[in-house]
Amino acid sequence: MTQPAMSEARRYQQLRAHLAYLKLNDAAEALPRVLDAARAERLSLTAALERLLESEVEATEARKLASRLRFSCLPEPWTIGDFDFAAQPGVDEVISDVHSLLRAYEARAMEAINLKISKVGGLTNAKLIRDLATLRFLDDASNVLFVGPPGVGKTMLSVGLARAGVEAGHRVYFTTAAELAAKCHKAAIEGRWATCMRFFAGPRLLVIDELGYLPLPGDGASALFQVINQRYLKSSTILSTNVGIADWATAFGDATVAAAMLDRLLHRATVVGIDGPSYRLRAHQTHATTLRKAVAARAS
Ligand code: ADP
Ligand code: MG
Repeated sequence: MTQPAMSEARRYQQLRAHLAYLKLNDAAEALPRVLDAARAERLSLTAALERLLESEVEATEARKLASRLRFSCLPEPWTIGDFDFAAQPGVDEVISDVHSLLRAYEARAMEAINLKISKVGGLTNAKLIRDLATLRFLDDASNVLFVGPPGVGKTMLSVGLARAGVEAGHRVYFTTAAELAAKCHKAAIEGRWATCMRFFAGPRLLVIDELGYLPLPGDGASALFQVINQRYLKSSTILSTNVGIADWATAFGDATVAAAMLDRLLHRATVVGIDGPSYRLRAHQTHATTLRKAVAARAS
């Protein structure tokens, strides 16, 4: 081997060692490939360096995305693209900003407010959800409320938006109301209340699913209120519930807490009422219809 070739080989080893020392392992691994390409394609020094570091950046981004996804605890791999809008023509924007309506709030007034809310029309279905999927609502810390009966896709839409948030680089955390209440309760007992509150204040987007499916214990409602209150005007929360806004007072067993929570949640919010058929039951219904037809055909 000639002298210059020796030093070139040594320089290559040195370069790999530098990359490894700096923990640029993906760049170290890509090095031979990039050098070959540089020679074959006569890449400029800048182009070759750019390509080398690009492999490291891509790998780092992938690792960060995977870590944000793990942290987010999303229960399903759903995306907004999976949602079948044709199956759910009832997805409708019900309200956008009702703060003034809620100002002078009384439990008795709930029903009246709810009536006014449902009369406010707006963008509908696919367009509204796609608008939410741009994640602009995160910029002004506004909230999203999905209201509707079981099986209409509230969780699916929440997960889809949350997933979009994760992919856009935000810290997102998914939980259910019952799980949140249980975590806060445990933290209070173990003297970790402040840490627990900081945890729920942290994510740029917090999803609280299934509010109203299980009755919250007394301290659960107040924990939920504190979580909502500390995030108010700072970061966005997506909340899904089967309890119509008019019935929140009953669901919480405390009209004042319900009113205070709604006040914060709805100050800046998009409320999406979904009132279509249950997607879960669709398969059963199709099956039942087929059976009924078969039985009718045999009988005739
Ligand atoms: P909810 O939270 O309102 O009870 P889910 O979001 O859990 O409902 O949806 C129930 C099931 O039906 C899920 O498996 C979901 O993927 C499916 N589903 C509901 N709505 C749709 C839809 N519009 N398009 C595709 N799948 C849907
Ligand atoms: Mg659900």
